[in-house]
Order: sequence, then C-alpha cells, then structure tokens
Amino acid sequence: MSQDPLRDAHGRLISDLRVSVTDRCNFRCQYCMPAEGMPWLDRADVLSFEEIKRLVRLFAALGVTDVRLTGGEPLVRRDFPRLVGMLAAVEGLEDLSLTTNGYLLERDADELVAAGIGRVNVSIDSLQRDRFFQITRRDSLAQVLRGLEALARHPEVHPIKVNAVAMRGFSEEEAIPFADFARSTAFQVRFIEFMPLDADREWASDAVLSGEELRSIVDAVHPLEERPREPHATARVYRFRDGRGEIGFVNPVSDPFCGDCNRIRLTAEGRLRTCLFSHHETDLRDPLRAGASDGELELVVREAVWRKELKHRVNEPGFTPPPRSMSAIGG
Ligand code: SF4
Repeated sequence: MSQDPLRDAHGRLISDLRVSVTDRCNFRCQYCMPAEGMPWLDRADVLSFEEIKRLVRLFAALGVTDVRLTGGEPLVRRDFPRLVGMLAAVEGLEDLSLTTNGYLLERDADELVAAGIGRVNVSIDSLQRDRFFQITRRDSLAQVLRGLEALARHPEVHPIKVNAVAMRGFSEEEAIPFADFARSTAFQVRFIEFMPLDADREWASDAVLSGEELRSIVDAVHPLEERPREPHATARVYRFRDGRGEIGFVNPVSDPFCGDCNRIRLTAEGRLRTCLFSHHETDLRDPLRAGASDGELELVVREAVWRKELKHRVNEPGFTPPPRSMSAIGG
C-alpha cells in the first residue's frame, strides 16, 4: 500500500468517508422518498459487516480519519452496534459518528456509545407533533425526543446535532422554535437547505428556503454573530449574542462549500461516490468479492478519487439530479 494520502486532481485531501449501511428506512420524509417507500436492495447485494470493515480499514490506511455511518436509516440494520464496535477498532480512525432519524435511539443509545460512537446527528424537521408527522409521515416526534434524551445522558457523545431540512413554506415557522431549542438545550441545531436529491424529483430552486433567509428570521428575534468557519465545515455557525448557545446553517444550494470538500461516500452496495451529486460511481464490492487484494482496491479507489468533481452544478443551466436519491446515498 502506498503511503501517499488520498488526494483529488484539485489538490483536496480526502479524510472523511460517509458509509451508508442500508438503503432501508422506517420513515417516509417528503423531501426524500415517496409514501410507499422505495424498491429496497436485496440483502445479498448489501455489504456485510466484514466487507464494510475491510473497506474502512483500506480507506483509513489511505488517510481517512473520520467515518460517518448513515443510511437510509442505519439503526434499522440488524445488529448495527456490532458493526460500530468493529469499526471503532480500525487503526487510524479518529472520529466515528452517526446520522439517524432518532426513532430507535432510545433503544440503542447505550449500546452505540459503548461500542464507540462519538458524535451523532439526529434529523428532526419540526418540534411540533403535527408538522413532524406532515413531513415524515410518522407520528413519532415524542419517540425521537426520548431517543435524544437517552443519548444526552452520555456526556462523552459530543456534539449532538439536530438537523432540520429547510423548505420554503414550511420551515419559516420552525426557525424560532428551533432557535429556542438551541438556546435551552445542549444540542446544536443546524438547518440544511433542501437539495435536489428527492426520489419524487419534485425539487425546484424556488422550494429552497436559504440559510440566509432563516438566519435573518432568527437574528431579528435572537441577535447572532458569526463564528469563524472551520476547515472543511459544511455549516455557517452563529453564536447567540447573549451567549446562550449557537445555531448553524448548511447552505449547499445558496452558498456551496465544495472548495475544500474532503468527503467521499460508500453506498450500501459498495459503490464509491466522490460527490453527493455525482453521476458516476465506482464499484468496490464486486472486485472485493472476486478476491482483489488491498493493493488492487487501492488503485481503483485512487483513480476514482482523482476524478472527484470540483463542485456540484445545482445552480447551473442543464443541471440534472443524480440517478440515485438521498435515501440510497446517505447524508
Ligand atoms: S456537493 Fe460534492 S463537492 Fe460539493 S461539498 Fe458536497 S460532496 Fe463535496
């Protein structure tokens, strides 16, 4: 294995891997998938825990230090905490985190933390029961909030972020309730702009409520001041001027952050995606199952990463969404 760090043709070092462990989900969020769900992958097509571990070990040897586990909804994968434990033992990893809709967090929080999860993002789009139901098509807000509380009992998990997708005509009313939530709890709230990754292909640029619009709604009630941006950060983070916490805005559409992107993704069936909006994927599962050595897999990975897209083209004429929707990519 070469010791050269993983780099793309634009000079960006790749150190962050998002691993989708399943395409299945127990929610039906409007901005992600249809009410009837999606045609799920056959279980045989999905990477086993051992295959995921082998690939994560390979990426770690190539300089990846941060691994985020996503889905679909990762907690619906049977025995998921065992996978967390396997990955926590991988040499070279500095950060193992999770993105979840929180529905199974009350059940799994203790086991996940014991297995090695250090940071968690929980997706909650409204703090009001009926509006939560409207978006997710699940009457589960109370259950998710109990999961958040279960997680908060573990001070070693930090930060715990609450991510809300921002949609015009819906999230304007969520801005202040979430700001108050950020001010009265230890959870870090992030609004994420609606992206053209929905399975229904109903995304339109006028459906995007920009981070700047949300920021000004919050600022009018709770004055904000911007914090310096961290390298590779996706969010613009603001602290409340009166010192009561902070709130962030992830603006991939109105204020892209591709310039220092250090992220790549592995789908549940073992395909390497070099950008969220990529139209190209590189299969790692079949060569792995065909007996490829680490050296051979490394070559495949390096070639794919070298071709990583400079940026997304969402705001450009002729933009077409990737053939794969968010639930089959993972956050
Ligand atoms: S759109 Fe692609 S290049 Fe831009 S930040 Fe996201 S993954 Fe990176």
